[in-house]
Amino acid sequence: LSNRVNTFTDSVIRRMTRISDKHGAINLSQGFPDFPPPKAMTDALSKIALEGPHQYSVTFGAPNLREAIAKKQSKAFNRDIDFEKEVLVTCGGTEAMMCAMMTVCNPGDKVIVFSPFYENYGADAILSGAEPIYVPLIPPNFNFDVNVLEDAFKQNPKALILCNPSNPTGKVFTKEEFMIIAELSVKYDTFVITDEVYEHLIYEPYKHTYFASLPGMYERTISTSSLSKTYSITGWRLGYLVAPEEIAECAKKVHDFLTVGAPSPLQEAAVVGLNFDESYYQELKKTYTKKRDYFLKGLDEIGLKHTTPQGTYFVLVDISEFLELEQFKGMNDLEFSEWMTINIGVAPVPGSSFFREDVNNLIRLHFARSKETLDECLKRLSTLK
Ligand code: GLN
Repeated sequence: LSNRVNTFTDSVIRRMTRISDKHGAINLSQGFPDFPPPKAMTDALSKIALEGPHQYSVTFGAPNLREAIAKKQSKAFNRDIDFEKEVLVTCGGTEAMMCAMMTVCNPGDKVIVFSPFYENYGADAILSGAEPIYVPLIPPNFNFDVNVLEDAFKQNPKALILCNPSNPTGKVFTKEEFMIIAELSVKYDTFVITDEVYEHLIYEPYKHTYFASLPGMYERTISTSSLSKTYSITGWRLGYLVAPEEIAECAKKVHDFLTVGAPSPLQEAAVVGLNFDESYYQELKKTYTKKRDYFLKGLDEIGLKHTTPQGTYFVLVDISEFLELEQFKGMNDLEFSEWMTINIGVAPVPGSSFFREDVNNLIRLHFARSKETLDECLKRLSTLK
C-alpha cells in the first residue's frame, strides 16, 4: 500500500457518526440538520425523478446551476462572474477544497492552516503532497498573532486555507484580520483558498465578508463553498469553486478526472434553492439563531463551559472538570467522547481532532437539531454533573 495512506487516519468526525449510530445515541458530532430541505427543492427533485435528467450533466456543472452560482457570487464579490469560465460545481465542498489544493500545490509545497481546523484540510494537504504549516488561533477569541502568521508566510507557502465562519471555533474573521491576511498574501505572493460553507449561518451582529471581494484579492483567491448547510442537503453532495479563469480551468481538469461530475438530478433540483430570494436566508439565520441561543442557555444552566459561536452551528465544550474525576482518570478526549456516546447517549467530536496543538480538554457539539432533540440532549448532558 502507498505511504500516503499510512500518514492520515479516517475522519474522526465521521467515525463518531458511525459510533453514534451503533449505540443509538443522539448524534451531535458530524454536523448535519435533522430537518428536511425546503419543500420547493424536494418537490423539484420528485419531478426530476420522473422526468430526468438522469444522465451525466456537463462535467463542470449543469449550466443552469453554474449560472445561478455565478449570479449569487457576482453579488457577493461585487464583480461579474462568468459562469462558463470561473465556476465549477463539485461533489460537496469537500471535493472543491481537494480540487483547489491539487490545483495549486506541488508535492513538497507548504500551505498555511489555522489551528484548530476542520480535519479535512490535513488529509487534503497530504493527498495533494503538500505540508501544512499550522498557525494557532488563540482562545478565548481565537485571534492570531500577526508575527506568527508572518513567520508562516516567510516559509514560502503556496496557499493559506481560510475557513470562515470557522469550524470548529465558530469564529467569524473580521475585516481587519482579512486586511492583514490580504497584505501578507500579496507580500509573499500566496493563494488564499476559502471554505465558506457556513456563509449563511452567521449570528448578529457579525457579518460575512467574502475574502474574494476585498480589493485586489479576487485574482489570488479560490473560493469554495457548499449547498449542504444552506439548504439542509448534506447528502446531495453539492459544492462549488469560484476562481479566476486560468485557475478555474485547471481546477476543472482535476475535477474531470476525480469525479466526472456531481449528480445531475440533484444539480437540477438545487437550482430551485439558489433562486430563492433573500427572505430564505434571513429565515435560516433566524432558525439557527434560535437554536444557538436555546442550546447555549441549556449548557449554561447545566454549568458546562463553552464557546459562543459567532457563526456555524458548532460549540466547543470544556470537559477538563470531568477528566480530573477519579472515574475518568487517564482518559483522553477521544475516550471520553466514546464513553459519553455510549453512557450519556450524546455523541460529540473529540476536540483533539481539530487541533495541531496538544489540546485534550474539549469536545465539539453541533446544534442543527429540533428543539425536542436539543431538549433531550440537554437532559442527558445534565446527568454528567
Ligand atoms: N463539516 C461538517 C462537520 O464538521 C461535516 C462535513 C462532512 O463530514 N463532510 O461536522
